[in-house]
Amino acid sequence: MIRRTSKSSLFDLHDPALKISSNHDLSNKTSMKMSAVAAIHAEVDSPFALKKVLRAVKQEEVPTFILGGGKNTLFATSYFDGVVITMGRNFAARELHSENTIRVGAALQLPTLIKFAHECGLMGLEFLTMVPGTVGGALACNAGAGGEGLCDFVERVWVMARDGMIYSCGKDDFTYEYRHSSLRDFVIMEVELKLRPLNVQEAERKADEFRAKKTNQPYHIPSSGCIFKNPTDPKTGLSVSAGKLIDDCDLKNYSIRSAQVSQGHANFIVNNGNSSGEDFLALISLVRDIVQHRTGIEMELEVQIVGGPLNGVVLA
Ligand SMILES: Cc1cc2nc3c(=O)[nH]c(=O)nc-3n(C[C@H](O)[C@H](O)[C@H](O)COP(=O)(O)OP(=O)(O)OC[C@H]3O[C@@H](n4cnc5c(N)ncnc54)[C@H](O)[C@@H]3O)c2cc1C
Repeated sequence: MIRRTSKSSLFDLHDPALKISSNHDLSNKTSMKMSAVAAIHAEVDSPFALKKVLRAVKQEEVPTFILGGGKNTLFATSYFDGVVITMGRNFAARELHSENTIRVGAALQLPTLIKFAHECGLMGLEFLTMVPGTVGGALACNAGAGGEGLCDFVERVWVMARDGMIYSCGKDDFTYEYRHSSLRDFVIMEVELKLRPLNVQEAERKADEFRAKKTNQPYHIPSSGCIFKNPTDPKTGLSVSAGKLIDDCDLKNYSIRSAQVSQGHANFIVNNGNSSGEDFLALISLVRDIVQHRTGIEMELEVQIVGGPLNGVVLA
């Protein structure tokens, strides 16, 4: 393994919109609060800085990962020998674009997005109540609840490809499904979302409904949200709750060191201490294998695992 500790070898450091650090501690960059270090962390605060980083990592063939709020991401190992890119404040801009559309940056936090829509007299995103993370991460994962996802609301999205080219995509230029979108192949920079006029009572009622559905989720303990997507039962063709399958297999509270299947919601794994990526991966594999063995149903990962044997979602 090559340890890429030399920051200046990859990037031009004389750009105020580009902050580079090596051996960067990631423990506070994921909601799972797992111990992990990235060889290089690049915080980009302009499309030009982003382009410079993407071109450099492409040329050098360095593994690269775009990190949003880290609310659905696990690092498989304690050392990521590559570049983790995060987007700075300039990517969190927001504006009312037209009567029914808002234009927001990828680094905007989801609770701020919902609040901003209401301030503009618009609604429709209440299904994202209590869903943490950024707009970019939510578009990449088509985050949502109750059958709705953020991608349903896209009018236009601006992305950067790995070669630094910027594309403006209409809603028919990309595909999405339950917890996945093809936008993930790019770096999402900005999006225009089409909403509907705000009805305050309806918005509050919807937000309360979604809040009520989440009372069993462990919000105050480090986690990464749902680990598995709800699978389809091959016998019935119907979607089944991954949490219920795990619970039915008596796996609630099951743990490997400090990584534990949540007592509240069995599709959450929580970090009760200082768990490593290896502990989470071991527990995730075990849960998946036991459920498959007992029910015949294969569960697919919802959480993004960077590196490691389970799933590679590294960009470059
Ligand atoms: C307590 C809790 C509850 C949750 N409840 C829900 C829920 O109800 N519904 C739901 O859908 N999710 C839920 N989640 C998961 C999480 O909130 C969402 O998946 C959210 O969209 C992740 O956003 P993020 O910015 O943190 O993404 P990250 O975890 O940082 O990244 C996720 C993926 O998006 C990619 N990505 C991030 N930013 C960009 C970008 N700008 N361009 C391209 N790709 C990008 C990453 O590379 C990665 O593949 C929950 C999580 C927690 C911790």
